[in-house]
Amino acid sequence: MQKSISTNKSKLIVKVQNEEEARILVDSINYNKELETFFSAKIPKGISKRVVLSEVPKSYSEEQLIGSIARELNCESSLLFIRKLSKVPFTFATYSLFLPELLASDLLNKERLYLDFHTIFVRRYVRIIRCFKCNCFGHILQDCKFDTSCTRCSQGHNVKKCSSKDLFCINCKSLDEDGVDFSHSADSSTCMVYRRLLMQQIELPSFARKNL
Ligand SMILES: [Zn+2]
Ligand SMILES: [Zn+2]
Ligand SMILES: [Zn+2]
Repeated sequence: MQKSISTNKSKLIVKVQNEEEARILVDSINYNKELETFFSAKIPKGISKRVVLSEVPKSYSEEQLIGSIARELNCESSLLFIRKLSKVPFTFATYSLFLPELLASDLLNKERLYLDFHTIFVRRYVRIIRCFKCNCFGHILQDCKFDTSCTRCSQGHNVKKCSSKDLFCINCKSLDEDGVDFSHSADSSTCMVYRRLLMQQIELPSFARKNL
């Protein structure tokens, strides 16, 4: 928990790090026999939209960034949370920004922010999804039109029935590029295809992307 703001006699807004924390908090209050008699908790609708801020100069501290965005949006900085997305050592950083829906659409309309002499790009956050049946990225199981491919070995069985000792990533194999290692499971965070999608997502400056 980060902060709580009381609104009136009967309500309390509690600020937490992310949606998952909010869920844990809400569940632990609502399923606690003792607390339940006193109050209940819920996650307000539309409170946390997520946008991506890219090309933020590394010299900017998180406080500076939040302060500048709050000024730009004419809102209280306590409504904004940020989390760094990129861990790569470039001059620019990428952040996820969580903010109320209305402010998010304001910000997305601007497309870019000018902070001091820097331009920061604003984009809608898109989750990278992977199909549990065929292991392709970009669609979910319910929409799958492809054959089953095992997450571990890429053969035509469900991963639960897999007995293969060797790992074989179907996505990296289908890249058909020299030097790409495909001896990992398709859900691995080291997967080259996944990493490229992630890099597109966080939209590294073009000069940095070329070196991947
Ligand atoms: Zn699929
Ligand atoms: Zn298998
Ligand atoms: Zn892979």
